[in-house]
Formats: sequence, structure tokens, C-alpha cells
Amino acid sequence: MKITDIQTLCLSRPHESERQWVTARYRTIKADCAIVVITTDEGLQGIGEAAAYGWPRQIQQWVDWLKPDLIGHDPLDSRIVPHPNGRSRPYDCAVAGIDCALWDLRGQIEGQRVAQMLRADAQNRVRVYASSGCRYDWNQRPEQLIDETLSYIDQGYTACKVRIGTEWAWAGVTVDRFLGLMRELTQTVAGRIELMLDGNQRLTEEQALTIARELERLGFTWFEEPIPQADLDGYARLNAAVDLPITGGEQYTTLEQFRPYLEKRAYAIVQPDAGMCGISEAVRIAQAAARYGVDVCPHSWHNGLMALANGHFVAALPNPRVLEVCMIQGPLQWGILAEQPEIEAGWLKLPDAPGLGVQLADDLETRYPYLEGHYAIVVER
Ligand SMILES: [Mg+2]
Repeated sequence: MKITDIQTLCLSRPHESERQWVTARYRTIKADCAIVVITTDEGLQGIGEAAAYGWPRQIQQWVDWLKPDLIGHDPLDSRIVPHPNGRSRPYDCAVAGIDCALWDLRGQIEGQRVAQMLRADAQNRVRVYASSGCRYDWNQRPEQLIDETLSYIDQGYTACKVRIGTEWAWAGVTVDRFLGLMRELTQTVAGRIELMLDGNQRLTEEQALTIARELERLGFTWFEEPIPQADLDGYARLNAAVDLPITGGEQYTTLEQFRPYLEKRAYAIVQPDAGMCGISEAVRIAQAAARYGVDVCPHSWHNGLMALANGHFVAALPNPRVLEVCMIQGPLQWGILAEQPEIEAGWLKLPDAPGLGVQLADDLETRYPYLEGHYAIVVER
């Protein structure tokens, strides 16, 4: 069997004005998606979603540039798999899309689900967590966060992740005020849902330590990216200071980038994303992390095809924990797939079909034409 073509679908869907959300200083105005499609001379098609962020067109250009290395080759030939370099994120995301599409293709050729190819006794379902908590506005009604979390309980989710809201300087938000909201949230949900917090690298080490101590007392499951990711020693100090797991690494795409964080015990859980580094590299990172007793809970934002790639990866981990599912991507998220996989009582069932187990919906480029420009605009107040 030979690869005959590789294409990248660039897709978008604008958010209706009432569905736009502001986090930090960014108003998100649309959802984007980049999907790599690899076709063979025997009519098989492998699909993989690359983390789009602001770069669907750059991802498409990198995939086109890498294409000559794959065309005419056997999709089972491991020598054709490109590797992320840890320097150019659009390049690494293009590599990730190709890698995921090749896993999908190999699974179809061998008649196995990707999870089983990674580990013979992989689970066939993964626990998911509702990832959002980024729609509340400190200048309006921060309690929206609590209403939103209660709605996830109603939908059957058993875990969810929240964020620190709009720019704190706009509303004079202090650590004390923020922790007041976290205490109110914890009291209201009363143990019915696990809580995680993502600081999106926005805090100082001093703020992060105060918050980490209180989250630990409140029973949070983890505290993600509290401080800027390059502050390796700061992460090591925070992770040593509290029992609450300090997590991170969503923007790192190579094992080499994770090495110092593992060696310095800077993350209690690492969070690579198959949509940014590929399934192959995520597996290498997970294997190294296991040597340090560090679990992997992948980052997984964006759309349903990426959620499935990360889902197969989680299902095959030695200690499968949770998979992130973005709750604010809108109809594009699952609309890209011919059939939405089942999420029930907080579990995602991996489809029975081989590979990643799903097919793309028809006419995607007509239904979700790509809108040029960034997905977010900077807001000033
Ligand atoms: Mg994060």
C-alpha cells in the first residue's frame, strides 16, 4: 500500500456574540480546526487533527512542505514519521496532524483500535473532564462560574477544570477575592464534582503558592500552569511546597523539553497533547514520565478528532486518569465527525471501529469555511 495524497482541511465557525468569551485580555470570536487527511492507493483514508490555535494556514503549508517525504511510501513504514522539533509550534502541530493520521491509517490496515495498538489491554472508555470555566467576567458576574459548574454536574460530568477569569487588573481582583470565589464554588458543588484550576501561566510564584495551599485545603485535584512555563525552578519549588499536584507542559512538544521538569520534579502530572506533538511523541513522554512516577493527563483543547486521538492515548496509559474535553468550542467541535462518540456519565466510549474509529462528516469545507485571521482579539478596558 502506498500513500497517494495528503491534504489539510482548514475550518472555522464564528461564535455568536453571546457565545464569545473573554479570558485574560482575549475575546475569542471563532472556533478553528485543522485536519490532516492522508489517502492511499487502496482507498483508505487516515485523519488527524492538529491543534489549530492561530495557525491553520501555516499548518497547511508545513504539511504541504513535508508531503514529498510521505507520498509513494508505505504508511506502515516508521521511517516516514516526522518528528516535532520543539521550536516551531505550527511545524510541530503539522507533524502532530500527520502522526495522528498515520496512526489512524495503521489501525485501519491492521484492524485494531489505536488504543489497542499502543497497549493490548487498553481500556475501551476514558473518564473525561469538562474543561472551561473561562466565561466568567470579574467586571460582571463572576458567580457565572458556579452556575456553569453546576450545569456540568447536571450533564453527568464527574470532574471539571476552571480558570482565573478576565484580567485581574481590570477589576482590582486580589488573591483573596479569587480564593473567595473558589471557596464558594467548592461549597456549592459539595463534593459532587472534582475540581481543577488552570492558572494559564498568569500568576506570580507568591500568588501561586498562596492559591495552591488553599486549593489543597479545599480538595482540588490539581493546579495547572500557575506561573510562566519557563520558570523551571519556580515550578520545582511550588511542586515541593504542596501535596496538590502542580501540572503543566501543554506547550511542550518533545521529550527533551520535558526532561528538566521530570528531573527537577517540577510537574506532578505532565500534559502533552497529541494534537501538538503527535501520538508517537506523547507515548515517549509518557514512558519517560512513568520512570519518575509522574502521571500523564493530556491537554486536549479544540475539536472532537483531537479528543479521540488523546482519548486513545489515555486509554493505553499504565495509569489512565482523565481526558480533557473543551466545553466552549461550539458546533464545530463534534460537527466535523460523521458520528459523535458517546459521552455518558462522564465517560467517553472509544468507537468500536479500527484506527481512531471515526470518519469526517461530509462537505466540511462548505459547512465550515475557513475564516482568515486570529481566533481571538485583544480587548482593552
Ligand atoms: Mg491549560
